[in-house]
Amino acid sequence: MGAGQLAIDGGTPVREEPLPYGRQTVGDGDIAAVEQVLRSGWLTTGPAIETFEKAITEFTGAGHAVALSSGTAALHAMTSVLELGPGDEVIVPSITFAATANAAVFVGATPVFADVDSRTLLIDPESVAALITPSTRAIIAVDYAGQPADYDALESAIAGRQIELLSDSCHAVGSSVDGSPVCKRAGMTTLSFHPVKHLTTAEGGMVLTDRADWAARARAFRSHGMNAPHQDRTAGATWIYEIDTLGYNYRMSDIHAALGRAQIDMLPEWISRRRRIAEIYDGAFAASELCAPLQNRPGVVNSYHLYVLRLALTRLTADRQRIFEALHAEGIRVNVHYIPVHLLRYYRDQFGTSKGQCPVAEKAYQEIISLPIFPAMSDGDVADVVTGVNKVLEHCRR
Ligand SMILES: *Cc1c(COP(=O)(O)O)cnc(C)c1O
Repeated sequence: MGAGQLAIDGGTPVREEPLPYGRQTVGDGDIAAVEQVLRSGWLTTGPAIETFEKAITEFTGAGHAVALSSGTAALHAMTSVLELGPGDEVIVPSITFAATANAAVFVGATPVFADVDSRTLLIDPESVAALITPSTRAIIAVDYAGQPADYDALESAIAGRQIELLSDSCHAVGSSVDGSPVCKRAGMTTLSFHPVKHLTTAEGGMVLTDRADWAARARAFRSHGMNAPHQDRTAGATWIYEIDTLGYNYRMSDIHAALGRAQIDMLPEWISRRRRIAEIYDGAFAASELCAPLQNRPGVVNSYHLYVLRLALTRLTADRQRIFEALHAEGIRVNVHYIPVHLLRYYRDQFGTSKGQCPVAEKAYQEIISLPIFPAMSDGDVADVVTGVNKVLEHCRR
């Protein structure tokens, strides 16, 4: 394939200017929206929060949206709203960002790691079914990479039991299955607005739910557990509030919310662009002997936070480490999502998790790389990634 010498061995890199795996897009409208807040007199707990929450409910179809200071705070809100605690078990997939499992630990509950489906790396409903005990109180499914988890099968797995199905949808705003958005499939759903996600507030997150009581509790939770927001106290000319439950300061500022609100205008276009980039990658790699894209389940619209490629290591002379380094040398800054959470030292030490517990996740972890995917990538950038991956993999063909 005329690949030439690899950059890692002294050859010419595919790209001079490295391409990151993800990057935010911030336009003049975003900057103007932030400036307007800075000049408005309300820097936090002002009107921009409600405006952003309303825009997110309109975009996602959720009944209620509660903005928080991060996706992690939103996950913590979910486990707190359900009053989970010591003795309670929360089932999470092994392949996710650690925050999903940490949300159980924050409230003193025990995270239990389910294996994933090898085709999609989504939480495996059969593994979940096998892990359910009388102490299981919740499942946090993760819409990994942007594809909705198999909520139908998860619902069947918990049918007739008092177990809440929750969604960590930090990868998947705008995704759907059989025409219904993911936030309609779980009791509560979290979003993240970190810069690598679909839309950003710099740091920020959201809890989505159709239940007004849960939304109210999440709202109290983000501000010390206080039962009366400052606006209500001002309107009622009173300083009185009550604290019934413990809360935190997990508020989003109006500066962040204004940025998020402005970003939503671009979201449909950005998701289309992500999906188009994924389509080009699928076309380039679906027939490859040396790697394979993840599969999409029937009926899903994947909003592609990540594009994950699995390396066919038995057909390659190099391992993922070497291929990762070779791609970086070519200027293609691939990443890996994720180290299985049950293999992280904290979980091994505190919860006695160990290797062998989630064999599908552990095997997949050796094989996965996340290719660059973000809306501002040009067709030339996408072509460079394809060229770089093919160059490195062909070079390592066994
Ligand atoms: C990004 C992310 C989070 C955490 O979001 P932050 O806003 O960074 O706190 C949680 N879960 C998953 C799956 C994520 O990708």
